[in-house]
Amino acid sequence: EDKLTYVKSKIGEYPDFPKQGILFRDIFGALTDAKACVYLRDLLVEHVKHNHPDVEIIVGLDSRGFLFNLLLATELGISCAPIRKKGKLPGEVASVEYQLEYGSDTFEIQLNAIKPGQKVVIVDDLLATGGSLVAATQLVRKVGGVILECLVVMELSDLKGRAKIDSKVHSLFEY
Ligand code: 5GP
Repeated sequence: EDKLTYVKSKIGEYPDFPKQGILFRDIFGALTDAKACVYLRDLLVEHVKHNHPDVEIIVGLDSRGFLFNLLLATELGISCAPIRKKGKLPGEVASVEYQLEYGSDTFEIQLNAIKPGQKVVIVDDLLATGGSLVAATQLVRKVGGVILECLVVMELSDLKGRAKIDSKVHSLFEY
């Protein structure tokens, strides 16, 4: 059985969520299926092991990126760190503001999360316009990290988010 085909078949599709005109792709459709969970883990771990054997830390984006950063880190025997929305992380943080469709938001990372020169893979569930990952790459560089890749499970390729991101991007599958 093809793992990728199986995982993709379990992704939920919700028209007009969270707003009219948006087709929401729901990663939890896959995570609520035991076999898809294991396959998804295998696909992500194999990709990173094969392509970035020198990675030192996995950085996950608030909040569905957290489903994958600890998973990847423990499988690879390395560390992980979160990027969170403003005001959630204690201690000294670096911040980057980014634009949303309406208004803006701010991502933060703890200054001690990444050691200067550490090799980073950034992970999230889905790449849409790319705004989140652009901010995340800026933030990781601000604290001295070297980005090997941005890794997502799903990519909405029509939105061309990949073109905005100034690092390698890999998605397991596209819509
Ligand atoms: P972007 O910044 O690339 O426009 O949007 C990506 C972010 O929005 C990700 O953190 C992702 O979790 C969330 N997002 C946007 N659209 C969807 C969707 O259809 N499904 C899911 N699961 N997340 C989405």
